[in-house]
Amino acid sequence: MQLYNTETRRKETFAPLHSQEATMYCCGPTVYNYAHIGNMRTYIFEDLLARTLRLSLPLKHVMNVTDVGHLVSDGDEGEDKMEVATARENKSAWEIAKFYEQKFFEDFDALNCTRPTVISRATAHIPEMIALVKTLEEKGYTYRTSDGIYYDTSKFDRYDALVGRSRLEGLKGGARVEMSEEKKNPTDFALWKFSPKDKKRQMEWDSPWGVGFPGWHVECSAMAMKYLGPTLDIHCGGIDHVSVHHTNEIAQSEAATGQRYVRFWVHGEFLVLRAGKMSKSGGTFVTLQTLRDKGYDPLDYRYLCLTAHYRTQLEFTYESLDSARKSLQILRREAAKALEAAGRQPAAFTTALEEAKKLFRTAMEDDLNAPKALAVVWENMRGAALNPAEKVDFLRFADTILALDLFRAPEEEKTEELPAEVCQLLQQRAAARAAKDYKKSDELRAALAAAGYRVKDTPQGQQTEKIK
Ligand code: AMP
Ligand code: ZN
Repeated sequence: MQLYNTETRRKETFAPLHSQEATMYCCGPTVYNYAHIGNMRTYIFEDLLARTLRLSLPLKHVMNVTDVGHLVSDGDEGEDKMEVATARENKSAWEIAKFYEQKFFEDFDALNCTRPTVISRATAHIPEMIALVKTLEEKGYTYRTSDGIYYDTSKFDRYDALVGRSRLEGLKGGARVEMSEEKKNPTDFALWKFSPKDKKRQMEWDSPWGVGFPGWHVECSAMAMKYLGPTLDIHCGGIDHVSVHHTNEIAQSEAATGQRYVRFWVHGEFLVLRAGKMSKSGGTFVTLQTLRDKGYDPLDYRYLCLTAHYRTQLEFTYESLDSARKSLQILRREAAKALEAAGRQPAAFTTALEEAKKLFRTAMEDDLNAPKALAVVWENMRGAALNPAEKVDFLRFADTILALDLFRAPEEEKTEELPAEVCQLLQQRAAARAAKDYKKSDELRAALAAAGYRVKDTPQGQQTEKIK
C-alpha cells in the first residue's frame, strides 16, 4: 500500500514494523460538546484506512477519548474545555464526558466506522502520563513554572520534524505573541498543569509536582505507547494537529524513549463551510443530527466524504449532500437489480470479476483514492463486463471498504406529491375525457393551470408539470 507521509512529504510504500500486525493510533474526540461533521470526516477517512489495511494484514487500532486537559488555546493558556462545558451545562465534568462520548459513538457507529481495537480514556491513564513526565524530568527536558511542568523544546533536535525549519520559525513568531513570561521558548508546552490555587477543579490528581492535571499532548503519547509500544506504524489525525499537537507528541515520546515514535504520519484535510472553518468552540457547526433532522441518512454523508480524496479540502453544501444521497440511492437500486437478476441464473465467475476487484483495491491502496474506487464501482455496475452474479460479488467486496450498506433496500423513487385539490381536478378531467366531454376537459385544464399545473395527455394518461 502507498501512503502519503506528512513527515517525508511523499507517498511511501507501507509495510508494518512487525510482520504479524500493523499498529495505528488516531486522536479521538474531545468530549465537551457534540462532534461536528468535520470531525466525522476525519474518522471516516481513518476508517477507510483501517479497512483497507485489513485487506492484507491484522491491525491494532487505538483511539483515545480526551476527557480532560484540552485547553481552549493551543498555547497552554485558557481554561480546560471540559470545565468550560460544566459552566455552560450545569453538569459535572464527568457527566459531560460520559454524555458526549456516548453521543460521539452513536454517530461513529451510524457512519459505519469500525470500532477501534482499544478505546482509551485520558482520565483512566493518569499514572502512565505521570510516569512519562517523570522520565522526561529525569532526562532533563522539563522545567517548572508557577502554573505547571513544561517541556523545553530547545533541547529536542527533531522539533521541526513535521513542519520543517522555516515554518517552525513562523509558528514561533505567532506563539511569541501570547507567550507567558515564564516560558523559555515560545513553542514550549505544558506536560502537567497545576490546579488553580483559588479554585477546586472537578478533575484533578496528585502528582510528584503537585495537584493538577495532564497536558493534552502528553495524554496521546502515554496512551499510544502503552498500547502500541515505543514505535507506531501509523498515527492519524486532522491536518490541524500537525504543527502543535503531533509535533509535541514526537518531542515527548522520542525524548523519553530514544526511539522513533511514528513511522507514518497520516493527516486528513478539513471539511469547510463556504462561510469558513467549522469549529466546535465557535458554535458554527453542523452535526450528524442536523443532517438527520433534515431527512438525510448518515451514510449519505459518508458517500459525500468518499467523493473527495482525504488530502483535499471538502466544501460542505447541501447541494453536494443531495447529489451524494441520489447517487447512493441509484447504487443501491443497481445492487438490488443485480441481486434479483443473479437469482434467476446460475452463477458463473470470470476473470473480469478478479480484474474489477483488483482495480478497486489498487485505487484504495494508492493512498486511499476513494473517488477513483467509487468510479470503478460505477463503471462495473453500469457496464456489461460483469454478469449479475459477479456484480453482486464485486459490490459485496467493495462494500467491505466503502461501508455504504449497498445491499440495503433502496427507497422507492419518489414522485412529487400533488396537492389534493390538483388530484381531484385530474380525476374529474380523466372522467370527462372518458365520457368524451372535451368542453369540460378543457375547462378542467384551465382550472389546473390556475392551480399552477400544466397537464399533458400522453398514451400513459395525464401527466402534470408544475408551471414555474
Ligand atoms: P477534537 O474533538 O476537536 O479534538 O477533534 C477531533 C478530530 O477532528 C481531530 O482529528 C481533528 O483534527 C479533526 N477535525 C477538527 N475539525 C475538523 C474539520 N473541520 N474537518 C475535518 N476534521 C476536523
Ligand atoms: Zn492526540
